[in-house]
Amino acid sequence: MTFLNEKFQELTPYTPGEQVNEEAFIKLNTNESPYPPAQGVQEAVAEASKKLNRYSDIAVEAVAKPLAEYLGIQQNQLFLGNGSDEVLSYIFQGFTEKGIAFPDVTYGFYQVYSGLYQVDATVVPLEDDFSLELSKYDDLDGTVIFANPNAPTGIYLTQEKICDFLERHPDRLVVVDEAYIDFSGESMVSVIDQYKNLFVVGTFSKSRQLAGARLGFGVGNADLIADMNRLRFSLNPYNINSMTQAAGSAVLQEQDYVDQKVQETIQVREWSKRELAKLGFEQTDSQGNFLFAKHPKLSGEELFTALREKKILARWFNQPRTKEHLRITVGTQEQMERLVEALKMILEEVEA
Ligand code: PMP
Repeated sequence: MTFLNEKFQELTPYTPGEQVNEEAFIKLNTNESPYPPAQGVQEAVAEASKKLNRYSDIAVEAVAKPLAEYLGIQQNQLFLGNGSDEVLSYIFQGFTEKGIAFPDVTYGFYQVYSGLYQVDATVVPLEDDFSLELSKYDDLDGTVIFANPNAPTGIYLTQEKICDFLERHPDRLVVVDEAYIDFSGESMVSVIDQYKNLFVVGTFSKSRQLAGARLGFGVGNADLIADMNRLRFSLNPYNINSMTQAAGSAVLQEQDYVDQKVQETIQVREWSKRELAKLGFEQTDSQGNFLFAKHPKLSGEELFTALREKKILARWFNQPRTKEHLRITVGTQEQMERLVEALKMILEEVEA
C-alpha cells in the first residue's frame, strides 16, 4: 500500500555516506573538512540563535554582499541555496527541457535529480583514464553538467577547454559544479561575464568547513539568476536559515583561516598520495580534498571492509567502473598517518 504518486515509485534516491560517531571512527567518507569552523563562525551562529523567532532574510544579504565581493561579481549574478545540492536541484528541475548530459563517473545526485524531475539524461562515458573529453558532448542537445574537479576521480579540466566548449555551444547551458575548486585550479567564475550560457556552482561545505550548515551558491548572468529565483520563490524563499546566514557571513571574514586550512589539506593530500603510491596503490592525480585509489591485491569492497574493521571509514561506490576504487577524504595529517598505518597492516595480512 502506498500513497506515493506512481511516477515516483521507482525513484532511486541518493545514498549518502554514513554519518558516524566521530569518537569511534576516523571519518574519511564524505569529503567534509576535518577542521572545525573558526571560532568567529561558532560565535556568530550562537548570536544568531537569539533571533530565531524571526524568519530569515530572503535576500540573504549578509552572505550575498561579501560573497559577491570575494568572487568579484555583481550581487545579481549570485544565487544562494541550501547546500549546492539545492542549487543543482533547481537546474535539473528548471533548465533541462532539451535534456541534460553528464559523465558516467561523477557526482551521484545528477542521476538522482534526473529521476526525480524526469529529465531526459544522457550519460557520457569518461575516457579509460577517467578524464573528461568535452568534444563527446558536441553532438548532443540541451544542458551539460560536470564537476570540476570531478568527483570521485578528482581530475581537473582546464579553464581553456571549458571556454572552448562554451564558445562552440552558445545556445546550450553549461553547468560547472566547482564543489572542490578551492583545492584545485582556476574557477570559471573569473570568466562569468563572457558567457551567458555558463553557470558555476560552489559550496561552503568543503573548503569553508560548513557542510552541516548547508550553504551553496551559483554564479551566472543576471537573467539566469532571476530565473533561478523564480523557482526558489515558488518553493521556499526562506531556504537559507538565519544561523546558516550568520555562519556564511562570518566565514567570509575568516578567509585567512580558510586559506590556511585549504593549504594544509593540499599538503596532506600530496603527502598521502606519495605514501599510498609507495604501498602500491594506483591513483588519479586528484585535485580535490580526497584521493581516488585502488590496489592490485585487494578489491574495493575488501579494502573498504578491512578499513572499516580498523575504524576508518572511506567511501566505496559499487558501480561498474569504480568498484575497485575507494574514495578517501583527505583528513588531518595525523588521521592520514593512521590511515597509512592501517593500510600497511591490511596489505601485510594479504601478503602473509
Ligand atoms: N557537488 C559535488 C561534486 C559534491 O561532491 C557534493 C558533495 N557531496 C556536492 C555538490 C554537494 O555539496 P553540498 O550540498 O554540501 O554543497
